[in-house]
Amino acid sequence: MRRVLILFLLFVITILPSMAFELILPKDKKTISNTEYAFFVGHASNNESITINDEKVFTAQNGAFAHSVKLRNGENRIAVKSSYDFNPKIYKIYKNEIKNIYKPKLVELTPALYKVLKDNTPLRKTPEDYGMNRMSHLFEGTKLIVDGEKNGFYRVFLSKNKTGWVAKDSVEAIPEEENAPKFITMKSETFKNASIHTLEFTEKLPYTIDENSDEILFKVYNPQAAEDSVYTVNIKKPQKYFYKTVSSNGTYVFKVNALPYVENALEGLNIFVDPGHGGTELGAIGCLGDKEKDINLKIALELKNLLELMGANVYMSREVDGFVSLDDRVKMARENGSNIFVSIHLNSIPDIKMDIHKNRGTSVYYYNPNSKQLAESVLDSITTGINTRNDGVRTASFAVIRPTDYVGILVETAYMTNPLDSVLYRGENFPRETAKAISEGILNYVNPCK
Ligand SMILES: [Zn+2]
Repeated sequence: MRRVLILFLLFVITILPSMAFELILPKDKKTISNTEYAFFVGHASNNESITINDEKVFTAQNGAFAHSVKLRNGENRIAVKSSYDFNPKIYKIYKNEIKNIYKPKLVELTPALYKVLKDNTPLRKTPEDYGMNRMSHLFEGTKLIVDGEKNGFYRVFLSKNKTGWVAKDSVEAIPEEENAPKFITMKSETFKNASIHTLEFTEKLPYTIDENSDEILFKVYNPQAAEDSVYTVNIKKPQKYFYKTVSSNGTYVFKVNALPYVENALEGLNIFVDPGHGGTELGAIGCLGDKEKDINLKIALELKNLLELMGANVYMSREVDGFVSLDDRVKMARENGSNIFVSIHLNSIPDIKMDIHKNRGTSVYYYNPNSKQLAESVLDSITTGINTRNDGVRTASFAVIRPTDYVGILVETAYMTNPLDSVLYRGENFPRETAKAISEGILNYVNPCK
């Protein structure tokens, strides 16, 4: 009898570790956090139930779970207990007290002349280097009048009632000039599928691009001129469009293109498919340890096939597991003359006050108004096609969807960290079905009646 008992105990001791839950997050038993919540993401084994600080944790059918614990300032002891183990695992998370948030002050400066140091310098609505606040991307050598300073940015005087902001290190002071830049000429030409608007000045000047419901407003400012000089071109928007600004010296060429007319399905369209992350950049990690970069690639490869069957010319940022920078992704898409850009991702917990279970389903992001329609069409198609929760169409300043020279969206097909979503994205048919839904969303956007 004693022997049997010892054997049984040995069995229990050896089998237990293999049955125990595994945590993907937090990575360490002792961490420091600046967030409101601590996230516990992982998976349990068969029939194992998990409690965190005595609260039972919901576990999906594949064992995936995700749980958030609200943190107090200072040390938080969090006990994660398995039904297979008498002793809980203790996690110590130290939350820093956030006090006296630094509030930058505006300093007024005597107006002075500056020039932009390199191409693609963002001119922003607010002195912050994030968010939906870009008014345009300035060219190297653009002359600016700076009259204030805040939070590492200079305030740029554009006209009597308009200012912008540029990062301080993106410009340098230049000597005063005797003669203000001058306007030379302005013309607009209209073609079947495009319109070209040219404005000529003696120097490179700041410009902005705005859109309202029917028009694109392309404005060039001459703040050095004695009177308030703003040169505006109002361009009627085609139904589906993209646009581009080029400049040499003081000449600005603004070209608006209608999306090419397509007779059949997606015939002849240039579509860029961009599987997010890759190589050393894993993307988000799922409850069961799946890597986002791998699932993105599977969906993207399926999508490429389907779009090609519909007649599109498809280019990809990567077709294997490798690192590609964001700049290179945009560069490739531009070089290939892409009309449409689709970036494929899966989402993870945001770093904000958030109950983890609210983060579930599909969302589609766009930056420029010209891409909203495509985002809506693709979201609609995915949520009905693969039955994920509709997490909405949203705007965000992601580098790959900021350019205006294509219609660009970023698809977050599901949440890597959501237990119920993990059942979906781990399904064998998920990549093909998701790709099919995305391709149909693109088709409905391009060719709605077919
Ligand atoms: Zn991602």
